[in-house]
Amino acid sequence: MDRLEMREKLKEKLPAKRFEHSLGVEYTAGTMAFMYGVDYEKALIAGLLHDCAKYVPNDKKISKCEKRGLPISECEYKNPELLHAKLSAVYAKEKYGVTDEDILSAITYHTTGRPAMTTLEKIVYIADYIEPNRTLLPEMDLIRKEAYNDLDQCLLHILHNSVHYLCKKGAAVDPITKETYEYYSHLRRQ
Ligand code: FE
Ligand code: FE
Repeated sequence: MDRLEMREKLKEKLPAKRFEHSLGVEYTAGTMAFMYGVDYEKALIAGLLHDCAKYVPNDKKISKCEKRGLPISECEYKNPELLHAKLSAVYAKEKYGVTDEDILSAITYHTTGRPAMTTLEKIVYIADYIEPNRTLLPEMDLIRKEAYNDLDQCLLHILHNSVHYLCKKGAAVDPITKETYEYYSHLRRQ
């Protein structure tokens, strides 16, 4: 399936707004790939499909992951919404014919990040946050500039704001997000 066919198919699966968001992440990831010398076709596909399983109902998210033997953490059982990232990677493979592991891991880690991310993973994580259709989050102007100047600084900035936002809201922070935050703040201090 080529990328245009993927788009057609995705359009059927997502509400209009989420589809627009996906196109925004596609293009934003593409521009960042130019900037950082990453394969831009991979960035475009990962950006396009990163949320492709977002609208699978939550109970099905759990059962579909279980059926495929994917590990589900305690935090994910409590917040099945988090599983959309893993499940979108599964769907990208099964329903859109994506076999490239770089693309699939960029989709898998787009919500939580992980320590020692690849450049493509960072790009999709950041593009998801800064794409033009996003409602303006605090410090968005600065974060958008950082995305094109200093990838790790940008990543850390988003992780910092997310962890603090989630804590303030009293929402659970996925342990992997915390680990990722600690990993990159430590790296920065060195
Ligand atoms: Fe997502
Ligand atoms: Fe997204």
